[in-house]
Amino acid sequence: MTVPASSLQPPAPKSRKGILFVISAPSGAGKTSICRAILTLFPKLRQSISFTTRAMRSGEQEGRDYHFVSKETFEKMVTTGEFAEWAEVHGNCYGTARKTLKSASEAGADVLLDIDFQGVDQLRKSGLDGVFLFILPPNMEELLSRLESRNTDDDETIARRMSNAIAEIAESVKFDYIVVNDILEQAVEKVRAIMIAETLRTGRVLRTLPEEFGLNQK
Ligand code: 5GP
Repeated sequence: MTVPASSLQPPAPKSRKGILFVISAPSGAGKTSICRAILTLFPKLRQSISFTTRAMRSGEQEGRDYHFVSKETFEKMVTTGEFAEWAEVHGNCYGTARKTLKSASEAGADVLLDIDFQGVDQLRKSGLDGVFLFILPPNMEELLSRLESRNTDDDETIARRMSNAIAEIAESVKFDYIVVNDILEQAVEKVRAIMIAETLRTGRVLRTLPEEFGLNQK
């Protein structure tokens, strides 16, 4: 049997659509640690760096953890429609710039967003296709102990974060996945498994297959 010459040609590269992984959790659930570990495990994964009016904590860096801006700058960005989503969380404003998502999408890169549930609602309403993961602490006692041991917030802030946590946890039912972060390494492994499975969804894989398979997926 003769193989047609056309099938010997290397397949034309197909455009890969990046996946938006959105992780949300109450403060202290360990989301930041999980996100850091995940970014190490997936070196091509881009982290969406949010804008915030919150004061920089010790150890944080401009442009790595957040873009730290004044309230005036943030408000101007809201007015000019620069945010794909934004919200006031624990008395400070946080937002994801549209251009961050646009540049990742143009590059076909997967992006990791660490945002609160109000932002998640806005992204959903705007019709953005994403994979939504919620991280839960094993229980409220452990959440309080984690917030206290961070030594980054005063008692009033911790009390506010604890009372907000109940409302945030109620939102978890709207997410695609819930991961309980009891042991960090295991939670990271679960998030990693979810991410790998999501990249292997039929619709996503079809887009990347050689044309000679005749699967005709755009
Ligand atoms: P922290 O002040 O502890 O860094 O973050 C407080 C909360 O703000 C976290 O729940 C975090 O997920 C959320 N957050 C961070 N960036 C954004 C953002 O761009 N948009 C929204 N809606 N929430 C954010």
